[in-house]
Amino acid sequence: MSPLRHATEPGAGTTPAADVPTGAPTGPSEPWAVRTVTDLLPAIVENAAGHDRDGTAPVPALDLLWSAGLGALTVPVAAGGRGAPLSEVAGAVRLLGSADPSVALIMAMHWLHLETVNAPGGPWSPDMIELLNRTSLGSAPALVNVIAAEPELGSGSLGRAATTAVAVARGDERYWELTGRKTYCTGSTALGFFLVSATVPESDGTPTAGVTLLVPADAPGVTIEHTWDHLGLRASASHDVVLDRVLVPVRLATEPSPLRGRRANAGRSGGWLVALLLSVYTGVAEAATSWLADYLHQRVPSGLGTPLAQLPTFQRAVGEIDSQLYAATRLLDALVDEVERAGPDWAGDRVGMLKSQATAHLIEAVSTGATLIGNAALSRRMPYERHLRDVLCSRIHAPHDDIVFAGAGRSRLGL
Ligand SMILES: Cc1cc2nc3c(=O)[nH]c(=O)nc-3n(C[C@H](O)[C@H](O)[C@H](O)COP(=O)(O)OP(=O)(O)OC[C@H]3O[C@@H](n4cnc5c(N)ncnc54)[C@H](O)[C@@H]3O)c2cc1C
Repeated sequence: MSPLRHATEPGAGTTPAADVPTGAPTGPSEPWAVRTVTDLLPAIVENAAGHDRDGTAPVPALDLLWSAGLGALTVPVAAGGRGAPLSEVAGAVRLLGSADPSVALIMAMHWLHLETVNAPGGPWSPDMIELLNRTSLGSAPALVNVIAAEPELGSGSLGRAATTAVAVARGDERYWELTGRKTYCTGSTALGFFLVSATVPESDGTPTAGVTLLVPADAPGVTIEHTWDHLGLRASASHDVVLDRVLVPVRLATEPSPLRGRRANAGRSGGWLVALLLSVYTGVAEAATSWLADYLHQRVPSGLGTPLAQLPTFQRAVGEIDSQLYAATRLLDALVDEVERAGPDWAGDRVGMLKSQATAHLIEAVSTGATLIGNAALSRRMPYERHLRDVLCSRIHAPHDDIVFAGAGRSRLGL
């Protein structure tokens, strides 16, 4: 398929199924989620450019994935789900990332949070776990995401939420009354539930504490403000969620616990988070590089008379891009392996180092590709422009390089 023929966006600009580019292996021996996603990729690719262009959540793709049973991918087998390991989930996310990274990110967050709430020893109440597992097994999509970042706070892992949870009673039932604003809420308009972090203010001598609440998206007092108008991941609908005195039964909240300095993305669920985010952007860079290779075979400048792929300087540059991509995928494999082999008490700060290095390779690979392609890489009618914008989000996604490197430096210096 000529990139010049399939490249314009939207409409004709969607990358056809045969062109779904990925270095991730697919075949009969692959895990169930990878095979299932592979079958659905053509339909997902088809709409990616349109959702990116108008900034709408990719609901048809999410519905397709849900209908295939993927909502329960990380629900434990004992609870009726598939209990998939990280390697299987990361493989599925990487494939989705090559087709539509917004779809990949929304599904990745759902899979991550279902894994997290079901892990032994967590702070989650039995009612929270039961509701999330049951709805993930249901036929109606019920996606969940943690919404922790706030406009003033930035990353939810780096400080105290301004969103408050105040204890109230209504009849015999005890509730938390939740008020605040969360930002960068991936999937917002397509979600069934939010997991909201909040601060319980000091009262009657009880010190300030932190709590996480499970909030149905249609609960009274929840509104979504369409604030997400970003460079990349435009279809992730990562809008603001405003909570105005939302009543949440206490049984759908964690026990209040002391607020303490948290290390960014330490622990097992932090390992899953980082691995799945890196999987999204690895897929993006694979899609970009696949398109680049096609393009260089097809593009014949009249003054040259042969395809650009024939130029030794271009061959060398593509080799450099492929080396960066290969290094990034090996780092991703190492990260997944490290998290899968970790015990429950694993601190896991090293995953941030792997993520930062892999991300640098991915961004460099796609940026170098743009310089080879020329204007076609920057034209909004071509898919490469979307890949270039999307891959840039990888550095902004937690954990940030400065946090990772500062922590690593202190550790190496024994401080
Ligand atoms: C595509 C996308 C989707 C996202 N989806 C979600 C989501 O669904 N839910 C969610 O909760 N978040 C989400 N985020 C938020 C994301 O993970 C980061 O938490 C957020 O981007 C950080 O906020 P900020 O970019 O405003 O940076 P800021 O918080 O303003 O930080 C700017 C810089 O200052 C540093 N910094 C900030 N605070 C401190 C501190 N206390 N100590 C030291 N250094 C500090 C940061 O490391 C960074 O380098 C998403 C982000 C992206 C890009």
